[in-house]
Amino acid sequence: AAEKPAHFLQNIIKADLSAGQTGAIVTRFPPEPNGYLHIGHAKSICLNFGLAKEFGGQCNLRFDDTNPEKESEEYVQAIKRDVTWLGFEWAGDIRFTSDYFDQLYAWALELIKAGKAYVCDLSPDQAREHRGTLKEPGKNSPFRDRSVEENLALFEKMRSGELAEGSCSLRAKIDMAAPNINLRDPIIYRIKHVAHHHTGDKWCIYPSYDFAHGQSDAIEGVTHSICTLEFEDHRPLYEWFVENLSVPATPKQYEFARLNLNYTVTSKRKLLQLVTEGHVDGWDDPRMPTISGMRRRGYTPASLRNFCERIGVTRSDSVVDVGMLEFCVRDDLDKNAPRAMCVLRPLKVTLTNYDAGKVETVTAPGHPNRADLAERELSFSNTIFIDVEDFREEANKKYKRLVIGKRVRLRNAYVIEADECVKDEAGNIVEVKARVIEDTIGKDPADGVKPKGVIHWVSDHNHIDCDVRLYDRLFQDENPGAGGSDFLQGINPANLEVLTGCKAEPSLASAVAETPYQFEREGYFCLDATYTEASGKPVFNRTIGLRDSWAK
Ligand code: ATP
Ligand code: MG
Ligand code: MG
Repeated sequence: AAEKPAHFLQNIIKADLSAGQTGAIVTRFPPEPNGYLHIGHAKSICLNFGLAKEFGGQCNLRFDDTNPEKESEEYVQAIKRDVTWLGFEWAGDIRFTSDYFDQLYAWALELIKAGKAYVCDLSPDQAREHRGTLKEPGKNSPFRDRSVEENLALFEKMRSGELAEGSCSLRAKIDMAAPNINLRDPIIYRIKHVAHHHTGDKWCIYPSYDFAHGQSDAIEGVTHSICTLEFEDHRPLYEWFVENLSVPATPKQYEFARLNLNYTVTSKRKLLQLVTEGHVDGWDDPRMPTISGMRRRGYTPASLRNFCERIGVTRSDSVVDVGMLEFCVRDDLDKNAPRAMCVLRPLKVTLTNYDAGKVETVTAPGHPNRADLAERELSFSNTIFIDVEDFREEANKKYKRLVIGKRVRLRNAYVIEADECVKDEAGNIVEVKARVIEDTIGKDPADGVKPKGVIHWVSDHNHIDCDVRLYDRLFQDENPGAGGSDFLQGINPANLEVLTGCKAEPSLASAVAETPYQFEREGYFCLDATYTEASGKPVFNRTIGLRDSWAK
């Protein structure tokens, strides 16, 4: 494959390394443990871990846990699992911003003592009013000129739990007339009488994202702190803290464009809503664009990494076609997934000239061009199942499947010819009677009448019964929630079809959850552990069809 040209962050790092600006680089992936990771986070993970690997540096996994009311240990565990599954290893132990609360608190005191922070009693509404707008400068808080001693005493009262939530906050004293609103005396500590999943009841004041992030980077020796473009306007504040505090290092922030995918929602808040309102069966529902949902659905780590590589890293916002993601998983599974046969909508075929009770073993390759994938054994008997879609009483020339009086090849086995079909009282076809054409395994019929096509089958003698879940896109709107509409209105009502009574070849009895197969002619599938456990028989998820069938 052609080498991709270096992106801007690779260029920056190369330049920093060659100018001796930095030793080994240090990056970090800093999720807030307030939800499961989604495909957008995969881009950030691949970027941060990928750069560290490429340039011989290290990447930390840091939980940015400054909002205790929305965070939990469940999310911490899920995030660790997802990063590992994607194929990345963080440097040393996992880290928590909350590990640095003592140091951050000390730095807050340092700012107060330097006259660069004050306790402000404005209510949230009043503070908003004082902040000004993009066009209008803000107004100084009446509490801005409190003495250092008064501020220290009040901040101590905030910390000790004597003051109510919302009664006051600690603000950096910067410039209420700054054109950048983030510099208009931003809040750096707020009171929250909330226990924290990691620090318990130790604190009732918590640092803001802006006060915590850059300083945590400095503590960890992060050299390149990479975030999404919405933080571009926060960079001056990031730098202000680093310059005004006795931090041990000088990290720098860089921004890149977040991943937006059409037909997909990538916002933890909206994904949480899908979960809590029951539109899906949890964060790891195979329809979810979460990493855990995609894993259950049958996406592979390599396909997600390849997708992140292809979309590239830029500083301009754009929307990526979800077809690209689907292409990446199909491409990987086509090359690597073992083949198997599963009849989704079975129709019984009785082979009238094949001895009842006779069973022949036929072998099938694990993959058309992967000799390393084990051959499968199939047993052939006088009763087999084919898909209802693969038989018609009569049909035109375009239909290359089984038709009365015509021949078709059973994949990896004989050519058969249909003679008649049996119908129930309602007129539905319930059985086909056909004949085996002798000596046609791996050979054309001796009489020169060739079959028109090849179909898949399983034998009644040896198969497993299973259910199959066919997924379609979760959203039918290209941009769910566009223009302020309710994103739930964009849900595709036909996002799931459950087929029961499917029949699969015996090799699938040993299928392992999340391990992909190609069900020949049907698409890519994997066993789902949760649904299998719940229903007591194997349940397979369709990861994706064989080709793009989405009608735009
Ligand atoms: P969301 O916007 O979905 O709520 P978030 O940005 O609040 O996500 P964090 O846990 O704060 O989620 O994100 C961890 C890292 O992942 C951050 O550096 C963030 O910039 C990055 N990230 C989040 N969403 C995307 C995305 N769509 N594309 C690229 N990076 C992303
Ligand atoms: Mg967030
Ligand atoms: Mg966000």
